[in-house]
Amino acid sequence: MSTTPPAATHTAPQVQARPAPLRSVSFSDGFWAQRQQILRSHTLPGQHDKLVETNRLQALDPTWRTGDRQSRHIFWDSDIAKWLEAASYSLATHPDTDLALRVADVVERVLALQEDDGYLNCWFRSVAPDERWTNLRDWHELYCAGHLMEAAVAHSEATGEDRLLRAMDKYAGYIATVFGREEGKKRGYPGHEEIELALVRLAEATGNGRHLDLARYFVDERGALEPHYYDTEAVTRGEEPGKWRFQTAGPYEYVQADKPVRQLERATGHAVRAMYLYSGMTDLVARGADGALGMAVDRLWDNVVHTQMYVTGSVGASGEGERFTTEYDLPEETSYCETCAAIGLVFWARRMADLYGIAEYADVMERALYNGVLSGLSLDGQRYFYVNPLASTGSHHRQDWFGCACCPPNVARLIASLGHYAYAEGSDAWVHLYAAGEAELDAGSTRLRLRVETDYPWSGQIRIEVTPDREVEAALNLRIPGWCSNATLRVNGKPEEEPLHEARSGNGYACLRRVWKDGDVVELDLDMPVERVYARPEVRMAAGKVALQRGPIVYCLEQVDNGTTSLASIGLPRGAGLYARHEPDLLGGITVVEATATNLVNDDWNDTELYRTHAPHAAACAIRAIPYAMWDNREPGQMLVWVREIA
Ligand code: ZN
Repeated sequence: MSTTPPAATHTAPQVQARPAPLRSVSFSDGFWAQRQQILRSHTLPGQHDKLVETNRLQALDPTWRTGDRQSRHIFWDSDIAKWLEAASYSLATHPDTDLALRVADVVERVLALQEDDGYLNCWFRSVAPDERWTNLRDWHELYCAGHLMEAAVAHSEATGEDRLLRAMDKYAGYIATVFGREEGKKRGYPGHEEIELALVRLAEATGNGRHLDLARYFVDERGALEPHYYDTEAVTRGEEPGKWRFQTAGPYEYVQADKPVRQLERATGHAVRAMYLYSGMTDLVARGADGALGMAVDRLWDNVVHTQMYVTGSVGASGEGERFTTEYDLPEETSYCETCAAIGLVFWARRMADLYGIAEYADVMERALYNGVLSGLSLDGQRYFYVNPLASTGSHHRQDWFGCACCPPNVARLIASLGHYAYAEGSDAWVHLYAAGEAELDAGSTRLRLRVETDYPWSGQIRIEVTPDREVEAALNLRIPGWCSNATLRVNGKPEEEPLHEARSGNGYACLRRVWKDGDVVELDLDMPVERVYARPEVRMAAGKVALQRGPIVYCLEQVDNGTTSLASIGLPRGAGLYARHEPDLLGGITVVEATATNLVNDDWNDTELYRTHAPHAAACAIRAIPYAMWDNREPGQMLVWVREIA
């Protein structure tokens, strides 16, 4: 008997929550407090110094000129804007005179660059004033504008000053006079997405709904016009249409503009652009967009997370074009995994988590955050990975800056705004991520103040003291991570089994709905054994291999801990015990994983022997794995995530 599958439907969901304001959240005495401290003391001032050393800030001077049209200056505004956004987030929770002065100076420089009509871009103002909006495909004008808008929203929230916000309000208003479907306007949209999600934020910060309309236009128009806008634009520039260095399988697939966004079936092209576009699309779904857009977002999520995401939460396998490739193509040593792409996945995942209130999204956010994102920043907060491979011969190291410096300020703005990702509020209060500190969250007709004590991510024991504003019924939703197969939950010492059961069979959040009273204590214990993680067989690069994970942390082997000729020669027996041990003095205090494995020895091979016909010998060896994000903070050497598993 055959059945007809029901027609796919998607009704706009009731938005579950919104991110907690930064000032409502603080982190103390724990993993994230330590990282935010390093961010304030080293990363933010160090990045500002780099903006000066590399002439980026000076380029904001309206009289600045360069004779080198081929330089990367074309998107310097975005580097400055992302730093400004990160520094503003930090100031919102940690006032700092030196940082405030640096921020004020940058804001003045940005404001001085704005032209009378509202336009603001250092490259086009100083180098190519006649070429505004002539190459949306390659030149990142709208991308830079988006980052400036996000910076303005952050700056206004942090300082209460609105001059930059008003300037960006004007800029967005001007952009709306250039682009649109009305007669005389350009039917264009950005080659590098970003402005879509930025306009949504700007609309909310200014109360100007026209910015939301412009965001909708940029999303809806993408890939919609025949002949293709980028072809028409190329012809206008005197170029042959369709001849583009990034032209891959489908025309403009690289920039997610090969078809209207509602028809997108799979993630393609430049990974960072894709993540920003999907985030913007999700923002519009949360603001009442049609079901077709919601269905596209759901399809793209499934495609990325179920077929194209690394175990570290990184995305974008290929360095050729910084892009997605094909399903299950997840190489290790040559993986690209740009830090910005993992950050973009965190942006998107948080939007999905707040839209649907389903823990799978926050699970992905956590995986990317603790692994593929955090690896992008050294423990001392001063060196950065752009590329985050899952294996290294020992030649890949963090750098103190890049010519194309998108990643450093991006990781800074994420860490500085972590409160947005850890908690959400609305009719209920939501805890997406566990971290020591405090939060005060709207939960319907009351506010709940949470004081969280935990050594997460090294321990799964979490104690939350709850203080309500008013003693009325309110719901606190606690994420039960997908990696945890055994959890216990108590309120004031009394087991709460039903919410855990419902979390398992439902949305993944244990919902504690009760009349909260001062001093109520929630205790959540998440079992955190070391787990072996396997990739499905289609992932050929991981066939016969195993990754180690404990809680949200994915582990790797580093040569410095495992003195061997080749980490690839290590074989981990399937039945070997895996032991977690906390090392308070190692890499800022981490939990390592130890095991007894075997190692193929080379001391019975003579020097001229590259091949031979009898099998190599294996010897027992002790191995030690460290969190992947912490690798390359000691002496250089090989690194490996996927370890050979032997019988
Ligand atoms: Zn980047």
